[in-house]
Amino acid sequence: MTAAPVVVCPDCDGMAFTLEPCRCTTYGDRFLADADALGPRREAYRSCEQCRGAGSIAYPCYRCGRRGRRRAQLVVTVANLDTGAVASHQVVPGGLDPHRDPAGHWVVDLSFRVRELAAAVGAVLDETDAPSLWLDRQWRPDLPAALRHELEAQAILRADHAPWRLVLGRSTAPATVDPAARLARLCALADLLLLDLVVEARRQGEGFCWAIRYEVPGSPVPLGSPGWCRDLPEVLACTDVAKALTGLAERGLAAPARLLRPDSPRPPAGPAVDVDQLERRVLADCVDPTGGDELPGAQALWRDGRWWHTTLRAGEPVETLAEQPTGQVVRRVRVPVTRGYEPPDPAWLGELVDWRPCPDCRPHNRLRACDCRLGGRAADPDCPHCCGAGLRPSALHCFTCGDTDRLLRTVSVTVTDLRHRVVHLAWQAGTPEVAPLVATQPNGRPVVQLPDRYRLGSWAAVLGARPEDLRDADGGHDLDRDLRDGYVTVPWAGADPVREHVRAAGRGTAAGRLIVVAAPPDAPPLVELLRLALGLDLALVVAVCDLRHNAGDPLLADGLRWSVETKPRDAAVSPDDLPYRPSLAAALAWCRECLTDAVASAAPTNPATPIPVPWSGPRDLVADPEPDLLRLASRHAGQAVTVRFTRAGCAVHRHDDDAVRLLAEAPDLRDLRLT
Ligand SMILES: [Zn+2]
Ligand SMILES: [Zn+2]
Ligand SMILES: [Zn+2]
Ligand SMILES: [Zn+2]
Repeated sequence: MTAAPVVVCPDCDGMAFTLEPCRCTTYGDRFLADADALGPRREAYRSCEQCRGAGSIAYPCYRCGRRGRRRAQLVVTVANLDTGAVASHQVVPGGLDPHRDPAGHWVVDLSFRVRELAAAVGAVLDETDAPSLWLDRQWRPDLPAALRHELEAQAILRADHAPWRLVLGRSTAPATVDPAARLARLCALADLLLLDLVVEARRQGEGFCWAIRYEVPGSPVPLGSPGWCRDLPEVLACTDVAKALTGLAERGLAAPARLLRPDSPRPPAGPAVDVDQLERRVLADCVDPTGGDELPGAQALWRDGRWWHTTLRAGEPVETLAEQPTGQVVRRVRVPVTRGYEPPDPAWLGELVDWRPCPDCRPHNRLRACDCRLGGRAADPDCPHCCGAGLRPSALHCFTCGDTDRLLRTVSVTVTDLRHRVVHLAWQAGTPEVAPLVATQPNGRPVVQLPDRYRLGSWAAVLGARPEDLRDADGGHDLDRDLRDGYVTVPWAGADPVREHVRAAGRGTAAGRLIVVAAPPDAPPLVELLRLALGLDLALVVAVCDLRHNAGDPLLADGLRWSVETKPRDAAVSPDDLPYRPSLAAALAWCRECLTDAVASAAPTNPATPIPVPWSGPRDLVADPEPDLLRLASRHAGQAVTVRFTRAGCAVHRHDDDAVRLLAEAPDLRDLRLT
């Protein structure tokens, strides 16, 4: 095997920093600039707060991590999740084997290598995500070796932002998504959750880009292009339920909150949906029928068990002024897009919810409650941040309302398994409830507990799920413990706990709708990820902390906390790596999602150390370590226990305050039964 040479970083010429044009040069020497009308090229703004008029700024070179040298090596690894077999190919100067493309350029097609590796491990790949390396025009097979290798090293360095690429496959081809079945499922779920399903086509260049998403009624049409999919079948193939729900709150922050009528007459179940017909109709709506002009786009809305069609039209241009870090102000003109036709309200939508303006922020600017008012105190007249005004500019969301600017009287909570089961709840401030005192916060505020119907954990049980499987349907975030168990910290004894609970549940939601999933996440088994990590010759680091003894204390985290990560084989356990996921399944799902990034960043930072080129035949699954992990965690209850699994065996660490202590090492976790 050819060794990976270390070469001078071409992006910074070995200086470890680069001189880049300052942002101010985009607009030239102007205080007020138009975003669309760019200034003379490379002219600096004389009063620039970043470059002080010099026009360029020195940045640390991120391509070499400020080392000035780089490793001319790429590694492509293909792994079969079903067998654990792993095969790799490394690209270094001298072993590129390029071919000529029809235009006469020399190119190294790595997707060919990926297919070879996939055949070697018996894997069917979803997609062969492999780069092509283009060689410099000077490159020819008959050049002297030293010059050829130098040009090849440059081609490799142009592609080394992900120096180690992992491509995952399985022994059998993945089931392809049937667009009609997916659309039918998305529609059925819209009916179940009482949401709109929006199918949108927007003009982009010569063609269209498509998006499909859930919305609450009253959400505005988003600015800008909604995605990259070129037709309806493609957008259906890449939009599952979780993706269609993601961003629901952001899209509907300004939508009016209305009560739900879950008992309203429901549309007949299982409508036939013709994807072709729907696509043709939406495209036809992108042309103005009166003048034959092109419109910016069109939408189809699934509401109340049928499709409603509307054109999208350009509205009045809106001008915005945005301050730049350079001190310049940039004027942008945006053309909002509105619906040509607003479909009638769905039968399940009731009257408007009462609300009052949020006292802790100002709409349309970034003023938020100052820290001096935390805990409900009056503003401090001597506060260095707000001088007693009680408000200060902040880049964060308003903690009180989550940037909805409204405090609602009622919040609608939907708990669902995302299949067939759903519960719609209405929690209303002012409802008298028996809420016994269960604890007192260190600042003296009482903590009370509301009855079962305010505890999402109890509703999870009704739907046959565990409380730790609850998550926000929008983005999949973990749910607050107070919402799970109905705990409320009230400002004073006797204050309305439901009002505080409604505020917590409604913070940052669209139209006062909190939608919660009560079902385990889709996660690979621990033993499968463990086998994969060993095949890649990496470490699988599993951390668990048993806090179940805190179950009765509303002020402390409880239950089991998990994390699962792939790390370089020799990486030390960091004191900061504490587990925080509420279930092993949630930790495994996250590990799987980050796997290719984790492998890319497992490449050694020192350019003199080569990236490993792992090979492994099929491996048997090991015995499931979960019972042993649970036993270890309960033995060290209250402290995080981290187990690093590598080909050499396993090492158990415990987090004591700020230090990490090695407890034991063994070839197999089961051998540690007696420690
Ligand atoms: Zn500047
Ligand atoms: Zn560099
Ligand atoms: Zn203040
Ligand atoms: Zn607010």
